[in-house]
Amino acid sequence: MQEPIAKKPDLSPFAKALASQLVEEGPITVADYMAIAASQYYANENPFGRDGDFITAPEISQLFGEVIGAWLIDAWMQMGKPEHIQLIELGPGKGTLMADVMRVISQWPQMKSAVSLHLVETSAALRAKQDAALKAYRPVWYDSLDEVPLGPSLIVANEFFDALPVHQFEKVAGEWMERRVKYSETKDVFEFTHLPPEFEVTAIMPEEFVNAKEGSIFEVSPVSLSILETLATRIAEYGGAALIIDYGHAQPGLGDTVQAMKQHSYTGILANPGGDDITAHVDFGTMALAASQIVDVHGIATQGDFLNELGIAQRAEILRQNANEKQQWDMALAIKRLTAPSEMGALFKVMALTQKGSGIVPAGFVVHEEADDAQV
Ligand code: SAH
Repeated sequence: MQEPIAKKPDLSPFAKALASQLVEEGPITVADYMAIAASQYYANENPFGRDGDFITAPEISQLFGEVIGAWLIDAWMQMGKPEHIQLIELGPGKGTLMADVMRVISQWPQMKSAVSLHLVETSAALRAKQDAALKAYRPVWYDSLDEVPLGPSLIVANEFFDALPVHQFEKVAGEWMERRVKYSETKDVFEFTHLPPEFEVTAIMPEEFVNAKEGSIFEVSPVSLSILETLATRIAEYGGAALIIDYGHAQPGLGDTVQAMKQHSYTGILANPGGDDITAHVDFGTMALAASQIVDVHGIATQGDFLNELGIAQRAEILRQNANEKQQWDMALAIKRLTAPSEMGALFKVMALTQKGSGIVPAGFVVHEEADDAQV
């Protein structure tokens, strides 16, 4: 019997509308494409967990959020236990991380009564999930960090920056061109095209990239850098600490890192706009350099070193005493997944920001003598 010919899946109504828009208005930058796709995706799809498209650290194990909770308690104590502190999370997903954090903080009544909870989230569907998980702590929601009241703050962002749009520039026939997305009516597909950048792109790239070879790709995320600046300025002016965790690279590099996922498998970023999760590697090196103008930067550590340094294994040991065999096995697997270099331990990076000269030494960033972990 003959194999059936694979049929190209029909475009979703959202993708069809985007296709018509591109036919009418012309190609858009990869950054605009990512922004349009993300707002649709987070508003409608079921991103997280085993039955979703991808799984994040807090969804793997409660240990992750509990260890972050301990980190936040330590930072608050080093600040001198202020009576009012804003706890801000950027992109809280299902609210799992913050629920685990607040459970730990609740064991410190003095800190619990000092904390007010502020969540920056654009998706109404995810706000509803966060409400269900965090109602007891009376959170307040905002569309952007700029709207959160000013004051001393502890800020957490896990897998937030990777969802923000990046521009891509490609060396084509010796020139840096901006990659754009268009819709081909004849082929009935979204595809890349190249147009001259709207500004002098070589002015913003590290000098060693300017003469990169044909086909090289340079990425930059102005939205990420602008949110980072807002965040760092807040810490510089009002004190506190910020913790940024995401997957990405510690040194600036060339290459196409924009990727799409559906049900735990990679798809192409043009395959199903608004239906698949599109993300990019976070350029920690550039972010650290930008932040260091405004605040003290700690790290960049790998997630594995950071969690080990904070004692994730010791925390698991305490939980193990009341766990059955299956739970013990699950916990061991979760720790491996979060910390092993072959899993999330090396690809994910951690960076903290504190006010210059505050004297706060955030936990988890020890540089070992024999191997310089900051260079990973
Ligand atoms: N921190 C969570 C979820 C990560 S997914 C976890 O670790 O499980 C990214 C989150 O950021 C989602 O909640 C998404 O809706 C939100 N988000 C994406 N872009 C955003 C933006 N520009 N402003 C605010 N929230 C955004």
